[in-house]
Amino acid sequence: MPFFSTTPRPARPLRLIAPWLAAALPLLAGLGILYWQAERDLAASAHDTAEQALAQFELMLDNVADSANALLPLAGQPCADATLALREQVTRRPFVRSTNLALDDHLYCSSLFGEFSEPINPGDYVGGHLWLMDGNPVTPGQALLVYRAFNDEQTALATLDGYHLANALRMIGREQSVLLKVGDNWLSPDGLVHDDTLPTFGVAPTQLASQRYPLSVSTGYPAGETWRWIASQYAPLLGLLVLLAVAAGTLCHWLLKRAQSPRAELARALEANEFIPYYQPVVRSLTGRWSGAEVLMRWQHPREGLVRPDLFIPFAEHSGQIVAMTRHLMHQVAEDLRPHAEHFDDDFHLGINITAEHCQDLALLDDCRDFLQGFPPGRVTLVLELTERELIRPTPVTHQLFAALHNLGVMIAIDDFGTGHSSLAYLREFKVDYLKIDQSFVATIGKDALSGHIVDSIIELSGKLGLGIVAEGVEEPVQRDYLTERRVEFLQGYLFGKPLPLDEFIDALRATS
Ligand code: C2E
Ligand code: CA
Ligand code: CA
Repeated sequence: MPFFSTTPRPARPLRLIAPWLAAALPLLAGLGILYWQAERDLAASAHDTAEQALAQFELMLDNVADSANALLPLAGQPCADATLALREQVTRRPFVRSTNLALDDHLYCSSLFGEFSEPINPGDYVGGHLWLMDGNPVTPGQALLVYRAFNDEQTALATLDGYHLANALRMIGREQSVLLKVGDNWLSPDGLVHDDTLPTFGVAPTQLASQRYPLSVSTGYPAGETWRWIASQYAPLLGLLVLLAVAAGTLCHWLLKRAQSPRAELARALEANEFIPYYQPVVRSLTGRWSGAEVLMRWQHPREGLVRPDLFIPFAEHSGQIVAMTRHLMHQVAEDLRPHAEHFDDDFHLGINITAEHCQDLALLDDCRDFLQGFPPGRVTLVLELTERELIRPTPVTHQLFAALHNLGVMIAIDDFGTGHSSLAYLREFKVDYLKIDQSFVATIGKDALSGHIVDSIIELSGKLGLGIVAEGVEEPVQRDYLTERRVEFLQGYLFGKPLPLDEFIDALRATS
């Protein structure tokens, strides 16, 4: 309750954290969705790339395999007869670099050297057909892919230059790494052949095997690629997400602030029945008997304890909540006092403080009628106390209201009289019944000659206008005696009783009767 609390309240962790949570929630949810979408994009892209690479390698190998298959029937013929055919294949086929013939696993004729002699190990060829090798004696260190066509003892070999393969790996895998794997060997885009374990990809690892040749293509992205992808592909969405998060955090902060506003706090307190009536007796100066009581509002606050009205009434007036609070208070008073009405003297005056704003509302009439209906006829007189500091605007509504109130038997008292600017015309216009001399004048009785003079003037004025008079803030016998001597009929103050909660008030009332 910040508007009257003097000590700062401890910061509540929830209040501090909630806006951050509200901001983080859409941000995290949005990032989660973007991450999921980016992973799908990358997986689809990796799959496309692998398919593209595989198609390309199959196309190249078709070229090379066709060449080997075309030469296979020549295996066994003398090399001199076959050399032309071998060289023709190299010339005609774009991907064929060299061709060779072998018989009984012995290479005897080469497109490059003609007659040649070298053993062949069929075990080198994956699936009997493909060997990814790290160069040969002619071009050591330069990758080669050899296709082997064979038929019983006949063998034809056609070689594909690793340059074409590495080039394809680089062209197709511009945004990711693409590797070609044949058996235990694999080729990287830099054209090198490796025989160690194939590297694994952190994001969207994909491996596609050919249905036609014993090779596979492996691709994927390095770890962290998903975030890079989000940043590059979804930059506008990311911006929007940040904006959304800031908006959600701000909204949450604003709502929390609004919920803790004095207005919200008063509304909550009203709902929770925290505004309760205290009762202060008003006594007859001549007999000392309790002639009535003033109802004074208190706020029974769950943390702050009992709060004085001057700390919250001004705000309630300012925020327009005072009317509802007064209505609630009147209900409560009627319920409180109804069971004890038998202890009241006849014509027991119950004073309720009303603000000027309430006097522009015809519903006040119903509030007063409801209030009085709770008591036996003639037992209670309702007095509306209107402070002199807040003058009532004379409007058709107020005139109608005051006339109806008087018909109902409700009386009007001008509170804090002497501190405001009400004129005689004003007192007549609203058919005032009582003046309450402000306690600041009563406090100076016997001490300050000027104030004493004001008290005397008010008493004289009320006599001339035929108004009843109540003196507030009577604390000392000397004040009581002074006022009694001057025929002030009603007295109120700590000398007779402080504002009390219902039970104590009723006990004290019983004790006096
Ligand atoms: P008020 O209507 O002038 O009420 C009298 C104030 O003087 C009360 O203060 C009361 O406790 C105090 N008082 C009574 N006798 C003595 C005394 O002998 N000595 C001293 N020093 N004080 C005495 P409280 O209850 O704190 O109320 C303060 C003001 O708050 C009231 O002044 C009234 O203007 C306002 N108020 C209280 N309840 C309501 C309410 O239900 N509605 C509205 N609109 N205003 C209220
Ligand atoms: Ca009052
Ligand atoms: Ca007063």
